[in-house]
Amino acid sequence: MVDGFGACRAKHMVSLGTGVLVRHVVAAVRRRYAIESTPLSVSDQHAFTKGLTTMERFLTVDEVPDAHKEPFVLTGYRPPHRPWRYYLMSIFSLHNETLNVWTHLITCIYVLYMLNTYCGEVDYTDGVSGKLFLFYGISNFTLHFLSSCAHLLCSRSVAASHIAFSFDYMGIAFYLFNGSLSQCYTSSEPSFAYVVHPWYPWMAILLSCLYMVASAHSHVRYRMGDPKRALIQVCSFGTTYLLGTLPLIHRILSDVYNESVDDVTWMHVRHILLLVVSGFFYASEAPQRYFPGMCDVIGHGHQIFHVVGSASLLTQMQAIFADLQNRRHLDLVRPTDLSITTYYIVLLVSYGLIAFVFVRKALSIK
Ligand SMILES: [Zn+2]
Repeated sequence: MVDGFGACRAKHMVSLGTGVLVRHVVAAVRRRYAIESTPLSVSDQHAFTKGLTTMERFLTVDEVPDAHKEPFVLTGYRPPHRPWRYYLMSIFSLHNETLNVWTHLITCIYVLYMLNTYCGEVDYTDGVSGKLFLFYGISNFTLHFLSSCAHLLCSRSVAASHIAFSFDYMGIAFYLFNGSLSQCYTSSEPSFAYVVHPWYPWMAILLSCLYMVASAHSHVRYRMGDPKRALIQVCSFGTTYLLGTLPLIHRILSDVYNESVDDVTWMHVRHILLLVVSGFFYASEAPQRYFPGMCDVIGHGHQIFHVVGSASLLTQMQAIFADLQNRRHLDLVRPTDLSITTYYIVLLVSYGLIAFVFVRKALSIK
């Protein structure tokens, strides 16, 4: 039997013990993640310690800087201004960027696996189309890898978010350029490639760079959820993607007209349709718009955009490879090695200059 005083005393001891335990855990976590520069407030310690274990205990939308607030996402935000190691390790905990990181990380590893598998069937160094396919595969990998990094590190600060996503857009721009070239010089109709050949690669370089500038600018200029940001990004991506898809649209229409649609043409159709579906989830903010707070960790539209977009890109890669295997490119006009080297030098120098401008701009933000 425990009397009233004893029960009260026992309760006090338990509370004291819990307090000591929490302080020890906080100290251990701070040592583990090397957080020594600025002492954390009690509420910070609370959020940080809890943030390493379960999603519900990360920060709420009211506790993060405006630039990090996502429309209709109420919880699961990682705290800003922690050491880089904290964000790297956060890949193993459940917050509102976890699935965005993993969906593209797994895909980028799978792209490497596909490239390695295809390597046994096609010599990438044999001819222009083989090289273009290798560059396309590398750009497919780079897109997923840089996106994964951006989502992993973006919560550290506003500047980190701008820089990380500038590189993410560079990855997408690089993919758009390589997709355009591969589709034109491997998957198109001979008559189409012949007509567009003189200007097509230069137009692809121009639109790829414009896409990077427009997207990085809109990321710095407009907040998340501002319709202008999504509009600029979707329009600039759409225009560049349309140029890259023109060879396929011409091929699909020709095949339908000639009643000669084959399996590979259908793969190209699937890739285009999947990309359109992914674009819908990117721009519409569905389904979180209809269930605010319920899609914070799983089911957010951006995650669906990642999964469907990756499925589209993997289908595209399989389709271009199938065209390469079928030696379709042998009937097409193709650029010389010197031309390809020139395109990549111009492209990479342009990306470097654009990235330099936006990194400086991001670092100047207080
Ligand atoms: Zn993303």
